[in-house]
Amino acid sequence: MATKVLIVDDAAFMRMMIKDILTKNGYEVVAEAGDGAQAIELYKEHSPDLVTMDITMPDMDGITSLKEIRKMDPNAKVIMCSAMGQQAMVIDAIQAGAKDFIVKPFQAERVLEAISKTIS
Ligand SMILES: [Mg+2]
Repeated sequence: MATKVLIVDDAAFMRMMIKDILTKNGYEVVAEAGDGAQAIELYKEHSPDLVTMDITMPDMDGITSLKEIRKMDPNAKVIMCSAMGQQAMVIDAIQAGAKDFIVKPFQAERVLEAISKTIS
């Protein structure tokens, strides 16, 4: 069965880019969220094997959402998507239980490497 992924990013084109990389490589994108609160709801609904989580989003940011998801499911596998210059937030996220991080602009190879390491 294909690995189920929830993509979280406030930018539709970023979600589209990740989705494209994932679906071309045999992953199943079960849902997409545009903010942290929606991510929590969709996580409950779909129990994905993996989440790609943007850091900067309106309303609820990715680190808060990560923490809530990990509270609900301590085994949740979340990879953070960061922009340049967000090192401090990436460290926060890793301490809060994120498994890895990928930096925008995304390179397909790096995205796939982070995911296969995280789910293995
Ligand atoms: Mg964003």
